[in-house]
Order: sequence, then C-alpha cells, then structure tokens
Amino acid sequence: MPRLQALCCGRLTFDRSLFFPDESPGVQTTVPVPGYLVIHPKGKLLFDTGIACNAASDPAGLLGERIARLYRLTGGASDNVIAQLALHGLAPEDITHVVSSHLHFDHCGCNSLFPRARIFVQRAEMEAARAPGSTYDRRLWDLPLDYQLVDGEHDIFGDGSVMLIPTPGHTVGHQSLVVQVSRDRRYVLTADACYSKEHMDREVLPTVRWDATTMLESMAKLRRLGEQAGTRVLYGHDPMQWIEVEAAGGRLE
Ligand SMILES: [Zn+2]
Ligand SMILES: [Zn+2]
Repeated sequence: MPRLQALCCGRLTFDRSLFFPDESPGVQTTVPVPGYLVIHPKGKLLFDTGIACNAASDPAGLLGERIARLYRLTGGASDNVIAQLALHGLAPEDITHVVSSHLHFDHCGCNSLFPRARIFVQRAEMEAARAPGSTYDRRLWDLPLDYQLVDGEHDIFGDGSVMLIPTPGHTVGHQSLVVQVSRDRRYVLTADACYSKEHMDREVLPTVRWDATTMLESMAKLRRLGEQAGTRVLYGHDPMQWIEVEAAGGRLE
C-alpha cells in the first residue's frame, strides 16, 4: 500500500469573493497550495507541484500581471515543493511520477524541475493549453518533459491503489487522485474540482471555471465518493481543513 504525505507548496492571499462570488468583495482570505507525495513500492509520485519556487522574487514577471494583481504569495521560505521534499529526505531526481490536476500556475508551477519524472496530464487539458487563443501560460506546459496524456481514468501503478479520475469543470481536463493507503482507508484529493468543504456544503462555484454544469457534476461525483466508508476527501485550497492536516505533520494514514 502507498504512503501519502501532504506538502505545503505555497500560500495565497486574495479577496474571498474570488472563491465565493456570492459574497461582497473586501474580505481577504489566505489558503494553502497543497501538493501530495505518494510513496509506492513502484515509484514516488507527486500530485501537483505548487507555485514556482522563485515566483515571489518577481510575481508579475514570472506569473503574469493578472495573477500578480489578484493573488499575493504569502508562503514562507519552506512552502515550496523542493523544500518540502527535502524535509522528507528527497530530491527532485527521486520523483518518478508527477500528476498535474490541471495546468494552472498554483498546480504545475514546479513541473520543470522534474525532467526525470513522467508527467500525467489529461489529454483534454493539454489540448486546451495548446489551442489557438489559449489563455494558459505557455511557460507552465510548453516544456521538454516526458508527458503522458491520459483520457479519463487511469491506474498509475496497475494495482488500483493510485487512481486518476477525471473531474472536469474548473478546467476542461481537470483530474483528481484517489489513494488507497490501507485496506479500509482511502483519500480523495480533489484539487480545484472543489476548493473547500464550504464550497461542497453550500454548492458554491468559484469565479474561475470552465463550465458550471460540468463542475457541479464533478462535485457531485466527489461527494458520492466521500460518502463511501473509509473515504476522506481533501479539498483543493481549504484553510480550515489544512489546519488539521498540518497538525498531523501532513501524514495521511
Ligand atoms: Zn485552478
Ligand atoms: Zn488552485
């Protein structure tokens, strides 16, 4: 069975109405940018690599004016994927698999640091990034990496313990990860298919989305998964849930 470890790959501070468009602007929120390390007998996998490690040195230049205007990077010196891996005695070369939930700056910002890993992206996501007029930042995906484009569900290690599941809506080719850590315990890592428990409970959609109906369908699918015995859902950017995760040192057992 794989081991699962949460990593803090950045923190973002911004106006809460970006997350909850049903609220008035003017209230700031700070959320974590999680990544996850999965240690499996057949390889070491990262689910999302967070914000580019050097982004704070020049947010507008490295992330673009629009993102720098909307979000402040408020992570500490160790809140990036490289520092987090080092805390667990790992270097980028040790990582064999990287799964990108989608190609936004806070999820694949450090992919370029993993040239030895196979990078799993949904085909629909990559096609959207490559399409004429695409709004995806080319610096995040147009890289000499060993991409494996996936269509829908995918069993990474062939034993059912680490499964990619498509959860489109936030973006066209968004995917989530299900990790079975013991016979009766599994985790559903939603990434941006659902930012937080509050979004799930109130069925609120964020401002950033590709298609509302599709996103609601993916949220319903994640909710059904979460209702199954032994399943815990970990949301994409949930400050309350992250307090619990950090209190346990990021260990997910
Ligand atoms: Zn996103
Ligand atoms: Zn995100």
